[in-house]
Amino acid sequence: MDCLFCSIINKEIPSDIIYEDEFVIAINDINPQAPVHFLIIPKKHIKSLNQLEDSDLRFITHIAKLIPKLAKEFDLNEGYRVVNNCGDLGGQTVDHIHFHVLGKRQMLWPPG
Ligand code: 5GP
Ligand code: ZN
Repeated sequence: MDCLFCSIINKEIPSDIIYEDEFVIAINDINPQAPVHFLIIPKKHIKSLNQLEDSDLRFITHIAKLIPKLAKEFDLNEGYRVVNNCGDLGGQTVDHIHFHVLGKRQMLWPPG
């Protein structure tokens, strides 16, 4: 299967890894949209939220608990934004589910 994030997870493509455990990897985004912008990616290839199965929910729980820990590590105490882009109109460009964490600038709603 040809998937950019699977290749990153398998270390076939280099990336700036900020965190890794048995379930997820977190990498700095190659095209950051904020001073802090990293991606949390489950190691299991799941295309998007639409393909999430009940047995995958543990990854989401894992990520939900990890985000505040990484936010603290990156000194995002003033706040941050978590984004999941799902499907074409949602702006998803890599078809392997991931969560963006952006911080260190004021977020606008929408856009920004
Ligand atoms: P999406 O648009 O699917 O929600 O987010 C994909 C993200 O992956 C984008 O923010 C894009 O900048 C990032 N990205 C694309 N290619 C690479 C890459 O090779 N390395 C890293 N670290 N990020 C990438
Ligand atoms: Zn993948």
